[in-house]
Amino acid sequence: MTLSDIERQIKACQECPLAKTRTNAVPGEGNFSADIVFLGEGPGKDEDLQGRPFVGAAGKFLTQMIKSIGLKREDVFITNIVKCRPPNNRDPEDDEVSVCTELYLWRQLELVNPILIATLGRHSMHRFLPKNFKISQIHGIPKKVTNKKTGKTFNILPLYHPAAALYNGALRETLENDFKKIPKIIEKLR
Ligand code: SF4
Repeated sequence: MTLSDIERQIKACQECPLAKTRTNAVPGEGNFSADIVFLGEGPGKDEDLQGRPFVGAAGKFLTQMIKSIGLKREDVFITNIVKCRPPNNRDPEDDEVSVCTELYLWRQLELVNPILIATLGRHSMHRFLPKNFKISQIHGIPKKVTNKKTGKTFNILPLYHPAAALYNGALRETLENDFKKIPKIIEKLR
């Protein structure tokens, strides 16, 4: 099974109710052997229309921050917890998240095998860390976590979601500062 096989499966997937309301599934894109994966929560309106992750205003901001650390979008892998847009941008339901991550996300992460996974926003962070972890307290601090189901260990870096930081000066500065730490964190983990 390759990442391209998974991509094909995602595009045809009917395994949860989000299949009925999506325009396009959004498998993710980028370098299949990237050092870093950026992991959002789910596709928004622009992503649903284009079938690509992080292509709206928040995506442009993310791309800008990726460039600020000397990388291009093609150097990293970008995906989401759920691959189809929840209607009206509601939060994905727990069962939608479980089905989608079991079927696709864990396998994608296993195949890319990145040095670091930057989680974007608290929903993404809470796939790896218990709900009592607050993003305001642990953003920008790398953590080693083990997936209880697969036994696989990941290094994650909790970051604020670019959409939250886009129009909030203080959060924006925090996110930009956390981004600046990424090259050194990867170097240290390598
Ligand atoms: S969100 Fe995931 S599980 Fe649900 S239909 Fe889309 S690809 Fe399938």
